[in-house]
Amino acid sequence: MIGPLALAALLVAHPAPSAITIATARGERSLELRADAGGAPMLSASGLVGALGGAVRVSGSWAEIAIGRQPFRFLLGAPFFVYNNRVRPLAAGATLTRDTLYLPFQFVAEVLPRLFADRYRYDADAARFTEAGAPPASADAAEPAPPAPASARDAGPRLPSGIRPGHLVTIDPGHGGVDPGNPGLFFPRGIREKDVTLQIGLLVRDELKRRGVAVRMTRTTDTLIALGDRGSYCSDNCDLFLSIHINSLPKRPGYTAARGSETYFLAEAKTEDARRVARMENEAVRFETETVAAHPSGGLDFILKDLQLNEHLRESALLAARVQDNLDQVHTGNNRGVKQAGFMVLTTARRPAVLAELGYSTNPEDGRFLTQPAGQRKLAAALADAVVSYLHEYERRTDSGADSAAGR
Ligand SMILES: [Zn+2]
Repeated sequence: MIGPLALAALLVAHPAPSAITIATARGERSLELRADAGGAPMLSASGLVGALGGAVRVSGSWAEIAIGRQPFRFLLGAPFFVYNNRVRPLAAGATLTRDTLYLPFQFVAEVLPRLFADRYRYDADAARFTEAGAPPASADAAEPAPPAPASARDAGPRLPSGIRPGHLVTIDPGHGGVDPGNPGLFFPRGIREKDVTLQIGLLVRDELKRRGVAVRMTRTTDTLIALGDRGSYCSDNCDLFLSIHINSLPKRPGYTAARGSETYFLAEAKTEDARRVARMENEAVRFETETVAAHPSGGLDFILKDLQLNEHLRESALLAARVQDNLDQVHTGNNRGVKQAGFMVLTTARRPAVLAELGYSTNPEDGRFLTQPAGQRKLAAALADAVVSYLHEYERRTDSGADSAAGR
């Protein structure tokens, strides 16, 4: 799987050419590149699909491209794509210009050759994209081009963690009070989901403070905060919202086998399992008394439509990708990926918001990992590192160091 750092490192290796050659067994074709509004090199999706075979479909704010029967989804304008139910970052987003869909050149130069190394190759020196089976190019490879100059970084004060001071993050330990969350089948006796989310949430707070990031907690004790109110802890001066949960499965044959972490950002649930997790976490409204009417789940659709056109969705997806990457580095269970689902807890956050399911209490190994101090410390450090690396990336991308120092 492609790590965001690996992608970023490749970006500066070669300046983009003005056109590339696409060579397949069926022949060669030249595709011109054009710059998008932000200067990122782009090429036409229909040109690419015409050369490689496949299909392009745009519906609403999403574009779906099939290449070699592999479907890729792009949220227009958002610097990521979804493949295999995972969100993967890009340097630029797909754009629609006068009915033509343009894809970031990076998708062709780096993503396809990495995902399908046995089928596609991109030779940056020759600006040549080759499908397996294509006749070799006759020209010798030119001298490697000199690396592009690193983009100017402003030299303001930075913390040892690399980010600027002044960030504030909201940490939301899931459930609490009369809402115990899941019963914690393989947790020590008397420990429920609400206890573990709080323990780890407090550790994340400590880790973030150590990295120079201020933290606001939705709760620091065993109390119930209404789902619809949790997001409001992250408003104007808050950079992002991270909700912490523990997954579980209902009793059925083999149900203790599922293990590992997954990270959600707010969008319509795409799979039955994502719907199940969203249902489970949204259930907490039944413990609330007054707030239920104010936040009916039927309102979600409306909020989703609004969010799809909204930068928070993009940012949330990028944040989710960082969080999931880092969790995977320390977790003893499986990497279950970045997913989309409609969580009420995320709808009221006005900032990038993600929900991390740190593991399964219905799996013995995960149960141990999630409740032992060493495992909790690893998870907390991974989450704090993910937050810092997202903030760092955000500062770089928006070049808004001065703004964020003022508490963007
Ligand atoms: Zn939960």
